[in-house]
Amino acid sequence: MQVPLLDLKQQYAPLAKPLLAAIERVCASQQFILGPEVRTLEQQVAAYSQCRHALGVSSGTDALLLALMALGIGPGDEVLTSPFTFFATAGTIARTGARPLFCDIDPVTFNLSAAAVESFLAGHCERRGEDLIYPKTGGRVRALMPVHLYGQVADMAALMETARRYRLKVIEDAAQAIGAADERGQRAGSFGDIGCLSFFPTKNLGAFGDAGMCVSNDAALHERMDILRVHGGRPKYHHALIGGNFRIDELQAAVLNVKLPHLDAWSAARQRNASFYDAGLKELAAQLQTPHAVLGARHIYNQYVIRTPERDALRQHLTDRGVGTEIYYPVPLHLQQCFAYLGGRPGDYPQAERAAAETLALPIYPELSEAQLHYVIDAVRGYYRR
Ligand SMILES: *Cc1c(COP(=O)(O)O)cnc(C)c1O
Repeated sequence: MQVPLLDLKQQYAPLAKPLLAAIERVCASQQFILGPEVRTLEQQVAAYSQCRHALGVSSGTDALLLALMALGIGPGDEVLTSPFTFFATAGTIARTGARPLFCDIDPVTFNLSAAAVESFLAGHCERRGEDLIYPKTGGRVRALMPVHLYGQVADMAALMETARRYRLKVIEDAAQAIGAADERGQRAGSFGDIGCLSFFPTKNLGAFGDAGMCVSNDAALHERMDILRVHGGRPKYHHALIGGNFRIDELQAAVLNVKLPHLDAWSAARQRNASFYDAGLKELAAQLQTPHAVLGARHIYNQYVIRTPERDALRQHLTDRGVGTEIYYPVPLHLQQCFAYLGGRPGDYPQAERAAAETLALPIYPELSEAQLHYVIDAVRGYYRR
């Protein structure tokens, strides 16, 4: 048996007809830029994310970059984030000219540790007038960028409380977490100033290419992002701001409008698969840790990530048996070559480093059959029985 990490063909087949019809409608209209499909998608995703506003953009990465630009983050600024995330989280911070400032993760959820953020701010930063300064660089700490990793909302109650006290802006990297919610039912992207979603094909809601969205409850910020999305020109050809081309394609919006009504069922199927794995891998609790889902919260399992010190050997064992896996992510961001100028050293963020060495994502996509789930569980058990 083969169990790929992800098989998008199984999602496409039953929806091929309405998807192709939607694409044809856009082709017939020949309106490819910011048309009715984009407006519909923005309204739907805003509502889905419990936000007043949503702005379709070209990718999750561009959503993050646009959010940072709209908040005026740039040279001389520092943005606090997790070192254990996809590159774009810190990559976009650096691209604005600001410096990514890392705090360690919670080893249980793999999300940014609210306690680490609080003690960093209390112990290593100083108030000077209106500014919060990081004396080591002289930079102003302006914003916090938590990541809802693998589809589970970070500890936003604590992080927002800290952000309010230190007057930090909050940009949520919700690229993996559309529809995820905390214990009170509040959805990813709706806590901070701006939430950033990705519709990369491997995310729970995937386009036929690149696309993303910025959600917000702040009308002024939304308006600013709307202007920056098209080179900062308003009225057209009159530029008070330097923006970029951050537009989402009408074709991608049309695809996403067909898929969005199915998202809840897909995320529920991922949760069912996760429960199946949880039960099947329980007997290995001494050797292997299954994901910790916060009680009462809504984890949408963009990834199902286990942890074991024998990660690499287990991965090889699974590969040999036709089970696709991936490591999200093998190198914490403070140890990336391009961030050497930030001065990160091995040992700086021990929990992130341990997670990078021990975590492994198993196939979790909605269409997995029960036979496939059994096969993966048996393959993992088989490794520990050798
Ligand atoms: C996917 C992802 C992004 C970037 O989204 P793209 O649409 O691929 O540009 C950013 N952050 C995280 C955590 C992601 O998983």
